[in-house]
Amino acid sequence: MNFNFDNLSKTEAISILELENEKLPELLEIVYEIRKKHKGNLVSIQLLSNARSGNCTQNCAYCAQSNVSQAKIDKYSMVEYDKLLKNGKTVQEKELSRHCIGLSGIRFSDKEIDEFAARVKRLKEETQTDICCSIGFLTKEQALKLKAVGVNRINHNLNTSRKFYPNICTTHTYQDRIDNIKMLKSIGFEICSGGIVGLGEEKSDVVSMLFEIQALKPQSVPINFLIPIDGTPFEKVKTSHLTSEYCLKVLCLARLLNPEADIRCAGGREVYLKGKEKWMFYAVDSIFASGYLTTNGQSIEDTIKVITDAGFEYRIENESVN
Ligand code: SF4
Repeated sequence: MNFNFDNLSKTEAISILELENEKLPELLEIVYEIRKKHKGNLVSIQLLSNARSGNCTQNCAYCAQSNVSQAKIDKYSMVEYDKLLKNGKTVQEKELSRHCIGLSGIRFSDKEIDEFAARVKRLKEETQTDICCSIGFLTKEQALKLKAVGVNRINHNLNTSRKFYPNICTTHTYQDRIDNIKMLKSIGFEICSGGIVGLGEEKSDVVSMLFEIQALKPQSVPINFLIPIDGTPFEKVKTSHLTSEYCLKVLCLARLLNPEADIRCAGGREVYLKGKEKWMFYAVDSIFASGYLTTNGQSIEDTIKVITDAGFEYRIENESVN
């Protein structure tokens, strides 16, 4: 396979997404060597809590929580602390890698951040887990408050390419997202930033997104494969091209462009990569258990089984390959 894998060009990256399926095993072997070098055979598991659900002012067309979504979901302004604690305790007891907490919405009042920060502080005291938040655009002062109570990583996805972004959202810009991530990095947060594949974009958009993500040097890159949600503007978007082979090529490319990062296969894993987990783990070293923000997923026990059945090891908290 004649690619400059250490320094892929955009043209080569598109060729990887267009690779004939017969050549996929060869690509996976190459990617597996890179994954093994940086992550061994370990797979980390994250648990996701939805701390604020629905009623977002934004119009992201794939999202069940947007102001244009008719999806039937639970809506609440702040989850009860006990629910956060329950998930935190599960992360602690099962020795999962991280507790990820998502909040719908794009901007928060200082009062809301103070209320959330107080919960995180208590949660850190009672569970000692690593905490990552997905929390829209923060002011620097708000971000520092979350840092002070122990949030060490923030998720902010780019979702697609800069060019395609107006097709999925018009209430904020791509650059707003990049600026937010840069601000968070400047004050010392680890960054989790990824995207969604299957929004109607071209392969070149996937490549552009992955190069934008690479430039941000995130610690974690979650890749979602769209499962259209009834009641959202994208409920009927075509996903027939999301074959397991195509999804694997996207994940390989994410690893090649971010060799040292956690490459996480997030939403869509249980649908598009079912039965192909062994190959998925050749590129991926991180997955969610127990579902996503508004959709269900695989139980923790089943997730662990999928990892071990594929011949990989479930990574215990704080275990490292180095
Ligand atoms: S993705 Fe985030 S910003 Fe966009 S509508 Fe959903 S909750 Fe709001």
